[in-house]
Amino acid sequence: MTVVNVAEELSVLIQDVDTVVVTVCCQDPTLDVCCDAAGRTSVGKPEFPGLIDHHYCTGSRFYRNQYKLDPHSLLLLCPVERTLTWFGLTSLVPPAGCNNLDGGCGIFASDPDAYEVFKEVLHPVIKDYHKVAEIKHTKPDFGDFNNLGFGDLDPSGEFIVSTRVRVGRSHASYGFPPVVNAEERKEMEKISVDALNSLEGELKGTYYSLETMTPEENQQLIDDHFMFKNDDRFLRDAWVYKDWPINRGIFFNHNKTFLCWVNEEDHLRLISMQKGGDLAAAIQDMEKKLTFAHHDQLGYLTFCPTNLGTTCRASVHIKIPKLAAEPDFKEFCDKLNLQSRGTYGWYTENVGGVYDISNKRRLGLSEIEAIQEMRRGVEEIIRREKALQGK
Ligand code: ADP
Ligand code: MG
Repeated sequence: MTVVNVAEELSVLIQDVDTVVVTVCCQDPTLDVCCDAAGRTSVGKPEFPGLIDHHYCTGSRFYRNQYKLDPHSLLLLCPVERTLTWFGLTSLVPPAGCNNLDGGCGIFASDPDAYEVFKEVLHPVIKDYHKVAEIKHTKPDFGDFNNLGFGDLDPSGEFIVSTRVRVGRSHASYGFPPVVNAEERKEMEKISVDALNSLEGELKGTYYSLETMTPEENQQLIDDHFMFKNDDRFLRDAWVYKDWPINRGIFFNHNKTFLCWVNEEDHLRLISMQKGGDLAAAIQDMEKKLTFAHHDQLGYLTFCPTNLGTTCRASVHIKIPKLAAEPDFKEFCDKLNLQSRGTYGWYTENVGGVYDISNKRRLGLSEIEAIQEMRRGVEEIIRREKALQGK
């Protein structure tokens, strides 16, 4: 690892950022010489265009400071023995949170290793988000995926418009989006699509590259809630959209009940729409070809700490105009461990009183438990909406 290489890479990455402080942490004691008394580097000081300040500190200094994050920090880098990306460095990627103070989490991991290297920073965030006292996870269990009981939730179809369950998976031997280069992204697309193309029966489908899709086809898939977009400011500020749309795409079966996003926020997002797409079967088949990043205590690892564990977000699109207008709507959802999003996803507006309601916790419970947490919460939501409508 050389400081100069890091600087070169950073200056490419941050060319659109105006003012920022870069904190580089390293555990390599030989790099102590890089620090002066104030923690500023005295040797190999790199030039960062557009930066107002930057400094290097060693691991020991970093530990002494108990991982206190400078709210302006752009990157925290840490060399590890086994690393996937970036000249022997693993890192946290906090600018998404620094630039967008309304975020629920505000920090991302640069690669699977970061969850171990930066556990002092990440574990409190993870415990807080997933509402767990201890960092531990259970074995995967999707239950009877063909019989999740969503149908009984709203038999008349008055409230629930549609249902969706998604999980994320990361390739164990690649970094997360901000740190993969174009070549690695291309390799990931290839191995992902090869595995997807081997699926059979109900899951058999076709891969559509975002590069070759027409704008009309893309828009139709977005309008139908199948396709991802590149307009999330958190992901943008965490460099997820580098080289967009190259080597991104979507796979789906003939009736679009099973979808898989390739190289969006996570390397893979496997999605079941309505009552189709047996995710457990899809994952089992894909695991014959691919190795996914997994941690004993954290479950399946994802770019965002809010997603790891089961990585499962089970949602309904639901019409709840009365309840959504109540001042305690958010609090009501929080109490039920539910999260509310807009009609077109995270931070979008709601259209026609339709909200995306999903389970919030993903760690420390099984997939079926996460799905049932959503189901139980939605029962409460419907009960209250009915009462408000005088039904
Ligand atoms: P995630 O990142 O968790 O997969 P997003 O919030 O980014 O989900 O939303 C992705 C897309 O999935 C959006 O178009 C959203 O409208 C759609 N979506 C989410 N839940 C449902 C649902 N229950 N029915 C139909 N579409 C849904
Ligand atoms: Mg998303």
